[in-house]
Amino acid sequence: MHIAGNPRLLTPQQRELIELAGALGRERFAPRAARHDREASFPFENYADLREAGLLKICVPRAHGGLGADFTTYVLVAAELGRHCGATALTFNLHVSSCLWSGEVADALAMTPAQRAEHEAGRALHYAGIVERGLLHAQPFSEGGAAAAGKAPYDTLARRAAVGGVDGYLVSGRKIFASMAGAADVYGVLCTLDQPGATQRDALYLAVPAQAAGVQVEGDWDPLGMRGTASRTLRLHEVFVPQSARLLPEGLYWQAAARFPHMFATHTPTYMGIAQAAYDFTVAYLRAEVPGMPPVPRRQYPTKQIAVAEMRIRLEQTRALFLQNARDATVDPDPDTRMRLLAAHYTVMENAHDIARLAIRTCGGQAMLKSLPLERLYRDSRCGSLMLPWTAELCLDRLGRECLYEDGEQDEAIE
Ligand SMILES: Cc1cc2nc3c(=O)[nH]c(=O)nc-3n(C[C@H](O)[C@H](O)[C@H](O)COP(=O)(O)OP(=O)(O)OC[C@H]3O[C@@H](n4cnc5c(N)ncnc54)[C@H](O)[C@@H]3O)c2cc1C
Repeated sequence: MHIAGNPRLLTPQQRELIELAGALGRERFAPRAARHDREASFPFENYADLREAGLLKICVPRAHGGLGADFTTYVLVAAELGRHCGATALTFNLHVSSCLWSGEVADALAMTPAQRAEHEAGRALHYAGIVERGLLHAQPFSEGGAAAAGKAPYDTLARRAAVGGVDGYLVSGRKIFASMAGAADVYGVLCTLDQPGATQRDALYLAVPAQAAGVQVEGDWDPLGMRGTASRTLRLHEVFVPQSARLLPEGLYWQAAARFPHMFATHTPTYMGIAQAAYDFTVAYLRAEVPGMPPVPRRQYPTKQIAVAEMRIRLEQTRALFLQNARDATVDPDPDTRMRLLAAHYTVMENAHDIARLAIRTCGGQAMLKSLPLERLYRDSRCGSLMLPWTAELCLDRLGRECLYEDGEQDEAIE
C-alpha cells in the first residue's frame, strides 16, 4: 500500500524520493530499530545512509546543490521513513525543518533588501555545511516553560557581543528534550534577543555548532517511546556565534511562525508512518506472514476481519487529512485552512496511537512481545500528541477558540 494513497497523483520527484526512502527504511532502518529502541541510542548508521543517499539535502534549494524538494514532497517522504523507523523520521524532521525555515518559509516572508542580502549570505553557509560536509542539524526549542507552547519569550538569551573583532551573540540557556543531543553537528536554537522589554517577537533562531565552547549535553534518556531520538538536555553557557549563524534575520522568526503555521505540523508525517506500520503489521500477522512466527493464520475469524476493517477506515481517514494538510501548506493560510490544519494535526497524532492500540488488541498476546515491532509502535505512537507547540490539548484549545471567535473578537465583560 502506498503511503501517499494514489501514487499516480504524485510528481515524478515525489515518487522517486518516496521509493528511495522506502528502500532505505525496509532494508536498513527497520532491522536496526529494535536495537536503538532497546538501548535508547541514536541511529548513526541510518544517518550515514541518509547522507549517502543525498536525503540530508532534500530541502536544500537546487541553486545551493540540494534536491530542492518542497514542503509537500518532504512530508510525503518523511511519512514513508516513519513507517520503518519512527525515531529516525522524527529527528530527520528537525534537520529538514532547518532548511525549510531558512528556505521555502523565508522566501515567502517580507524582508528589507538588506535583510534579504544578509539572509542569502547566511543560508549559503548553512546549506554548504549540509551539501558539502553532510552536517546534521537539531532543533532544540523546548525549555520546560511556556515558551515552546508559544505563550512566553524563550528563557535562553542571546546577547549581542563582539569576540575577536567578530560581531555576533553570546548565547546562554537550557533546552530540554533536545533530540539528537550529542549526535547533531549543529543545534538550531530558538532564543530571545537580550534587550530591554524583549517579547516573543524578539525570538532569534541561531545555528550553534555542537563543538562550540560552552555547549554541553547532560542528563540521561530513558523514556517510554521514541527512544532512538536521544533527546537529552542541552546546556549553553556564554556560547559565542557570529552573526552569520542567524538562520533567519533578527525579528523574522516571529513573522515566520505566525505566517507559516504548517511548519508546526511537520511531526505529523512521522506518526502517519507509524499508523501505517501498525496496520501493515496487523495484516501480515493475521495472514501468518510475519517472518519467524509460526504459520498460524488468524484472518478467518470474523472479529479479526471487522477489527482490520475498523483499522483501515481509521487509517484512510488519517491519510486523507494528512494529504490535505501536506498540500494545503502555504504562507498566510486563511482561517479555514488554519483550522483544517489543526484538525488534521490532532487527528493524525491521536489516530496513530488509536490504530496501534487496535493493532495490539486484534493481534493478541504474542504480538506484544518485544521480539516484534508492534509494542514499539504502540509506545512511539503515544508520543505524538505530546509534542509542543501543537499537543493534542493545545490543538483543541486553539481550534475551539478559533471556531467561536473572529480575529480580535472578545466577550463583553460580565458586571
Ligand atoms: C520524543 C520527544 C522528542 C522531543 N524532541 C524535541 C526537540 O528536539 N526539540 C524540542 O524543542 N522539543 C522536543 N520535544 C519536547 C516536546 O515538544 C515538548 O516540549 C515536551 O514534551 C514538553 O514537556 P513538558 O512536560 O515540559 O510540557 P508542559 O509545558 O508541562 O506541557 C504539558 C502539557 O500541558 C499542556 N499545556 C502546556 N502549555 C499550555 C498552555 N499554555 N495552555 C494550555 N495547555 C498547555 C500541553 O498540552 C502539554 O502537553 C520532544 C518530546 C518528545 C516526547
